Amino acid sequence: MSDRYDVIVAGAGFTGLSAASALRDAGLSFCLLEARNRVGGRVEAERNALGELIDTGGQFFCEDMPVVSELAHRYRKSVVEAPVAGRSLVRPPLGTEDAAGDEYWRAVAAIRERLRSTDPDDSSVRDRTVAEWSADLPDPEYAREGFRGLVQGLWCRSADEIPAWHLIECERRITNEEQELQFFLRETMHSLADDIGRDLGDRLRLSMPVSMVRHSDDGVEIEAGTATLRARRLILALPPSRAAKLDFSPALPARLRSALGGWRPGNVIKIFLRFETAFWRDRGLNGTVSWRHPAGLYVCDASHDDRHPGMVMFAGGPLSEEWAQGAEDAIRQRAISALVDVFGEEAASPLDVTVRNWVGDRWSGGAYNDVLLDMEAHDAESVLLDGHGAVIFASSELSPSFPGYIEGAIVAGRNAAREVVGSLARAPGI
Ligand SMILES: Cc1cc2nc3c(=O)[nH]c(=O)nc-3n(C[C@H](O)[C@H](O)[C@H](O)COP(=O)(O)OP(=O)(O)OC[C@H]3O[C@@H](n4cnc5c(N)ncnc54)[C@H](O)[C@@H]3O)c2cc1C
Repeated sequence: MSDRYDVIVAGAGFTGLSAASALRDAGLSFCLLEARNRVGGRVEAERNALGELIDTGGQFFCEDMPVVSELAHRYRKSVVEAPVAGRSLVRPPLGTEDAAGDEYWRAVAAIRERLRSTDPDDSSVRDRTVAEWSADLPDPEYAREGFRGLVQGLWCRSADEIPAWHLIECERRITNEEQELQFFLRETMHSLADDIGRDLGDRLRLSMPVSMVRHSDDGVEIEAGTATLRARRLILALPPSRAAKLDFSPALPARLRSALGGWRPGNVIKIFLRFETAFWRDRGLNGTVSWRHPAGLYVCDASHDDRHPGMVMFAGGPLSEEWAQGAEDAIRQRAISALVDVFGEEAASPLDVTVRNWVGDRWSGGAYNDVLLDMEAHDAESVLLDGHGAVIFASSELSPSFPGYIEGAIVAGRNAAREVVGSLARAPGI
């Protein structure tokens, strides 16, 4: 196999897979190098003790996410609608009745909307974290606290750390009106990544971690495992915090180093629980519980069918770091006991509990995504998107739509490929 290509793509998550597919369609020579022994990155699947394949990473999408919906259709996946009929709960409850949950969510959503509609350059948000911004709001304390918990659950970092302007810039690109956990794929989202990877044939090379990038305006020479490979362009389809770990020769300019250095991975633990019966539905509940305390804990119904009702739980941000101190069995027990507190003894004996701890994951750093925590790094995204000579940065975090989502990864990958195809067409010698 040749070791010289038009393009090398590093990272076979949805960003890298989408970039590689677009390069193939454009007729360029390329290879896609992946550090792990599988594709998908932050989208992965595992078989549980019942023999079912379940998504242990990214899973859900909704009808307002057109590109992932179209890909699922193209690869003939079966789309399952997550069950939502019934009441949601908030714990500890507000007041005596769970109907207060609706009021709670309205109040939290109103704060989120207010943040989205604030100009990121406005003095009320400039130089302030999300927690600092929310502290001054006239809303009741339960609503402000609920909002901070929502931010922690969605971005897997504390609201005390996230610059308010960065959250505004991300949230404005997340434009779904349907709830984002609307659909999942019966065959798993990971099977979609696998199918795309299979279509790339031997241009996909697994267990090839890129470690060193020698670069100039004309091309790159990279080291991956024991191989040295050359190309006219390199797409680094990695979360920014992972791209920051590579050795570059010559060193990247200070502006780029600081743009890469401001990102930190979120942290989350995803827990899948299967039960004999959907006991929550018998009580008019939809299985969704948002915890006010501990912040960052959330569960919802993710049943594939009535045969194996199931719930998926997320412990996000500082809570995941606390839970991750214990062994996997201790995490399992914490998850069950949180459910028993809400639903009683029927939740005590799940058929299976599968735990995927993403805290400090070797090749992702964490999950769901990297978050920009440098308060001063207003131009970090645009600096990364400008790239440097032959090196192009791409990942879901940098997407113009749905940053931090699978949808965003596909868009980011296709955009990076389009940029490379354009720049090679303009370059001399083509
Ligand atoms: C538990 C969990 C739940 C989530 N839930 C959802 C959800 O329901 N819906 C949704 O839309 N999104 C969800 N997400 C987020 C979504 O999965 C990610 O935003 C998206 O998959 C990121 O894709 P990516 O290709 O940009 O990055 P990644 O998937 O991280 O891909 C980067 C790839 O680069 C590889 N790599 C790293 N370093 C190197 C190196 N040095 N050399 C070569 N390869 C390297 C990694 O192994 C990885 O395969 C979830 C994520 C997690 C973890």
